[in-house]
Amino acid sequence: MTAPVPTPSAPLDGRVAVITGGVSGMGLASVMAFLAAGAKVVAADLNEEKGAALVASLADGAQAANLRFIRTDVSVEADVCAMIACAVAQFGQLDVVFNNAGIGGAFGFVTELDVDDWDETFAVLVRSVFLGVKHGAKQMIEQGWGGSIINTASVAGLSGGGGPTAYSGAKAAVVNITRSLSLELASHRIRVNAICPGAIDTPLVHQGRKGALDLSGFQPWPDPGAPDHIASSALFLASDASTFITGQTIVVDGGLTAAGPAGWGLTGNTPTGYVGMNRGTTGQGATIRQRPLRTL
Ligand code: NAD
Repeated sequence: MTAPVPTPSAPLDGRVAVITGGVSGMGLASVMAFLAAGAKVVAADLNEEKGAALVASLADGAQAANLRFIRTDVSVEADVCAMIACAVAQFGQLDVVFNNAGIGGAFGFVTELDVDDWDETFAVLVRSVFLGVKHGAKQMIEQGWGGSIINTASVAGLSGGGGPTAYSGAKAAVVNITRSLSLELASHRIRVNAICPGAIDTPLVHQGRKGALDLSGFQPWPDPGAPDHIASSALFLASDASTFITGQTIVVDGGLTAAGPAGWGLTGNTPTGYVGMNRGTTGQGATIRQRPLRTL
């Protein structure tokens, strides 16, 4: 079988995509960009309230028939299986998996980090990518015409100091898992690429105060990073425009990493007075505790 041939004006025409973390930030922007590009999209997320709001916001429009929401915990294999099955049951095939869901994860000084928080961070940020590729690739191999898998890593995965240690380590794992899996899946014409966003003004960062954080001076590029910057890169990697690109990491950071060590400093792993677990915008609360003063 061969994949449907899209028109240039609708680069994902006839394609079916699953986007995790699809109800907020760069995932939500990608859902909208993929729909506009002609795709049928399954938005998968732990946050059911935002999922319902997304579906409701499109209910009266032409896109309603092309969108499904499924409550998914990307760290749970049964949920990821159900997410892939949903795309096939609802839209008949699977062409793109965008493993994008994420949280801030465990943070704080290493001697006080909780091992369960560490494991939860890696489950949400790394196990999820393995599961998304595992079950997405199974379906794509069965179909026989290939596909595109995109994983959201981070500039924090490219060096130390760009984020908390657990987050940085997990995102570094995503970069190398992407490379490894691209080799395994190339013979099936399944491409596997990663995106490393810089500082992007999403709810994970602004925590409900959109625009309140001034990210404009954070990188050489004068404008702050926006979810659409990531969505357009994901669209490129999902489309036939990137057919010969696999195993790569596209850094979308306004020149932040080009600036080298001088660019860091604001989000680093500098020991603060707090230790805990940041569960992002999942609707699940963070745990934060103050470090005893003697260990500061
Ligand atoms: P966001 O909080 O706006 O969106 C993340 C979404 O992922 C949320 O809807 C959340 O509910 C969902 N999610 C979290 N855990 C989940 C789970 N276990 N199962 C299913 N869904 C889950 O954040 P964002 O900034 O758009 O983040 C998207 C991705 O980009 C994440 O992987 C994040 O680590 C990464 N990233 C963000 C930035 C940034 O500056 N915003 C920079 C680099 C990388």
